[in-house]
Amino acid sequence: MTVKILRLGHRPSRDKRVTTHLLLAARALGASGAIYTGVKDDQLEKRIQGINLSWGGCFEISFAKDWSKEIKSWKKHGKVVHLTMYGLSIKKVIEEIRRDESDKLIIVGGAKVPGEVFNIADWNVSITSQPHSEVSALAIFLHELFDGNELNLTFEKARLRIVPQGQGKKVIESQDNV
Ligand code: SAM
Repeated sequence: MTVKILRLGHRPSRDKRVTTHLLLAARALGASGAIYTGVKDDQLEKRIQGINLSWGGCFEISFAKDWSKEIKSWKKHGKVVHLTMYGLSIKKVIEEIRRDESDKLIIVGGAKVPGEVFNIADWNVSITSQPHSEVSALAIFLHELFDGNELNLTFEKARLRIVPQGQGKKVIESQDNV
């Protein structure tokens, strides 16, 4: 199952850090890429590509002008999950989403999410019915979707690799990917 994120309505001036954090969480926790809408942000794209070069993997990032087109084109082969505090509890729907083997597009909002997104989604899913952050909502959703297995992922062609330590830091730099 391929999992991609659709981040709606990115505004570089306001969302620089939060969209970066959202995409870092998506990458680290097993999504294969992200599409973002709103305002094209070359710095954001460079930042994420830089992370791939240092830490491995091939997390894709692309900009789309029209979210509706992206969703419709995704629905030709996959299904759509919209993360929203108004949706059904993740506890109620995660089994069904996991069992469904089709590719998944996970929509997360920024500013106001258009009402049409609620209708087009196959699942509107809440991570508690309280407002919080797209980063925490996505992280918990991916953790549940992959049943914790995403915590053991390794990233190919990493230049830097951390050797986990009880104390201190140990990072190995590979000369192959310099
Ligand atoms: N509604 C506010 C606005 O208009 O600016 C803030 C939106 S919220 C910070 C951004 C996104 O976080 C939402 O669109 C949703 O995808 C996600 N989110 C926040 N709380 C959530 C929750 N309890 N369950 C699922 N997703 C949530």
